[in-house]
Amino acid sequence: MKPRGPVLVLKPGKEKSLLRHHPWVFSGAIARVEGEPASGATVRVLSADGAFLAQAAYSPQSQIRGRVWTWQADEAVDAAFLRRRLQTALDYRKSLVAQSDAMRLVHGESDGLPGLIVDRYGDQLVAQFLSAGMDAGRETIADLLVELSGVPNLYERSDADVRGLEALPERSGAMRGKAPAGPVVIGEHAIKIQVDVANGHKTGFYLDQRDNRHRVYSAVQGMPNAEALNCFCYTGAFSLAMLKGGAKSVLSIDSSGPALELARSNITVNGLDPARAEWLEADVFKALRELRDAGRMFDVIVLDPPKFAPTPATVERATRAYKDINLLALKLLRPGGLLFTYSCSGGVSADLFNKIIAGAASDAGAQVRVEGRLQAGADHPVLLSFPEGEYLKGLVLRRL
Ligand code: SAH
Repeated sequence: MKPRGPVLVLKPGKEKSLLRHHPWVFSGAIARVEGEPASGATVRVLSADGAFLAQAAYSPQSQIRGRVWTWQADEAVDAAFLRRRLQTALDYRKSLVAQSDAMRLVHGESDGLPGLIVDRYGDQLVAQFLSAGMDAGRETIADLLVELSGVPNLYERSDADVRGLEALPERSGAMRGKAPAGPVVIGEHAIKIQVDVANGHKTGFYLDQRDNRHRVYSAVQGMPNAEALNCFCYTGAFSLAMLKGGAKSVLSIDSSGPALELARSNITVNGLDPARAEWLEADVFKALRELRDAGRMFDVIVLDPPKFAPTPATVERATRAYKDINLLALKLLRPGGLLFTYSCSGGVSADLFNKIIAGAASDAGAQVRVEGRLQAGADHPVLLSFPEGEYLKGLVLRRL
């Protein structure tokens, strides 16, 4: 029986990644499109010899032309389907102990919901609909999210650059319930953090570093009178963790004025002494050189830069940037001190990151011991068949 509805037929040999359950169909793999699927419509993906592979959401403008909904031929992709997937994602989060009232509830492909990100900040949900398929289902998804999570307020932040690749307009604002009147205050372990859901980066905050911030807090607790440096501090979450952990002082650097303003007020919200926190609005690449030239040294340094390699073509330049800041940071680190260094570039593997850091240590003339390997928290799960989901990696390094 010939299946009904639009179909993507792949070129010979291009079915391999789908057979391994990788959930993307690239435009170059497609031999022809049968029917006239609208943007976001569900299509059947067939191999060159006509075998069923998957049902996918069609993105006519994107290089990622299809995102797999299901590997089953007979599973209807409808509201009941979305309900099942969302419920599974929420049930998994209920099983986690996060020590926080903020959590990633839906992590795109890893939750079987390609292109959908949902974060919870207390009684506020924030969603990003980043693909044509998700955009087509946004109203249904919004209703389901509020119903299944029991959280009344849902804010949309579909203003990420990737929407452009899908030919979707940027969109943000309250979708359900009330828009937050100002920053939402969340509790993460012992610290309180204000999250600007409407204007902050991404959905407002970097939840993926929660466990890693706690690790820094614990390390600093064992280092009396530590002088700390936090590069790319955003709203100061790592700085707060270090101050709570007992650091004598923390110098925090970011190029974003509004982020630093919120960071400063986060000090007050936590009842910490503002005199222990110094904030610098600057380019980290320049600031690290100035600190080196001034002969400054630190006991703990955090390097959490933005994604230097957003695409495969930028990996080489990113490699140089990671090496540069890590080399400088190691020079600023006292012997016995700790460097917490991260990369959130999907294109830079953990292995490549290790190599870059080894090169930086060698050039800095620093002997360095790896005391830990870090990743995103369990609320950001990774499918083994989708290694792109494993974007955040980090190292705990001690300078000997
Ligand atoms: N560590 C933070 C998240 C960092 S996100 C946390 O735990 O919340 C990366 C930050 O780097 C952003 O705040 C961005 O404003 C800043 N940034 C990007 N490029 C920069 C540069 N060249 N110099 C300084 N800050 C930069």
